[in-house]
Amino acid sequence: MRYYEGREESAELLRMLLPLMSRHAATFNPLSYAVWYEYVSGANLALKSAVDEMTAGERLLNDADIEQLFDKHVALRDIESSIRMRAQMQQVIERVNTEASAASIEVTQYSRGLDEYHKQLLREDLDRSAMTGLVESLRGDTNRIRGRTGDIRENLQDSTQEVVRLREQLEMAQGLALTDPLTGLLNRRGFERLAKKMQKDGAERCSALLFDIDHFKAINDRHGHLLGDRVLATVAQVIRDCVSDKGKVARMGGEEFAVVLPGVTASNAVDLAERIRTSVEKSDVRRQDCDRNEPIGGVTVSVGVAVRVDGEQFVALMERADRAMYKSKQDGRNRITVSTRSDN
Ligand code: GH3
Ligand code: MG
Ligand code: MG
Repeated sequence: MRYYEGREESAELLRMLLPLMSRHAATFNPLSYAVWYEYVSGANLALKSAVDEMTAGERLLNDADIEQLFDKHVALRDIESSIRMRAQMQQVIERVNTEASAASIEVTQYSRGLDEYHKQLLREDLDRSAMTGLVESLRGDTNRIRGRTGDIRENLQDSTQEVVRLREQLEMAQGLALTDPLTGLLNRRGFERLAKKMQKDGAERCSALLFDIDHFKAINDRHGHLLGDRVLATVAQVIRDCVSDKGKVARMGGEEFAVVLPGVTASNAVDLAERIRTSVEKSDVRRQDCDRNEPIGGVTVSVGVAVRVDGEQFVALMERADRAMYKSKQDGRNRITVSTRSDN
């Protein structure tokens, strides 16, 4: 299966691709749908750049273009990437294998050499100078094998990195991208992967912020989904600018965003959340229809803040931030709620 989006996410992609598909000249057949689906999902980068290149200068795609894009970037992609990756994997395995056999031969020779030295040592006629020679050559052999094992360790490290890279490539090819195409932020999967890593590294103190745009459905209903998307992109940019290098930002799905701030104290986390809340409130998203260029106004977010307590699992921290965010909704929206330990 090459598509991993759930019902809700795929419905969102459908909504995004329809205007694109109808703008172009091609028939609305399944090939066209597949091309535009992969285009908006952002998972097929080669297809995306091919489409962007072909449509530069407002050129409209026709049936022949779609067929060409489909053949080259959709149908062949799986087969080609699977053959390529299998070949690369084969190379890594062969390299490790050669390395391991060479190492094993050399270690066996070294060990035989040690047996020989042992025998020599037992000889009764062994004089001082023979003894010195023996020590010298033992030292030489040991240094050589030490150098070789260092090389082997380095080569094996290279191979491990190569395997990690291949795994990432495979995930990309399977459409398991870690970023959200609309905002360029981490997506939920990317965020969960980051959280897992932070948990494993035993990240010290850290804070989590959860944002949900208020009455976003009404914005979509009133101004249309395309403008809704612009609001999402604007809020994402505001959060990204405010967080800067202090933490990581993700779009968790729909109109919900999460931020983790490693090593940030409760009061700094609240200050930052407040700065983001007011910046969103002041953000100036405008309608840009032919005869209107008016601010839509009233874009606000409700925020939940939670500071990690010792030994707390990341999932539990995010759940507390989520409960705090819902409290902000209940209390009237466009506000911040800080989770306390008793909310556990
Ligand atoms: P609340 O203040 O309680 O959060 O209300 P809300 O309207 O923001 O929340 P609700 O969950 O009812 O609606 C969220 C809407 O977000 C519904 C869905 O269509 C819309 N949405 C989700 N993803 C996208 C997207 O990628 N683009 C656009 N334009 N809308 C989206
Ligand atoms: Mg929501
Ligand atoms: Mg909402």
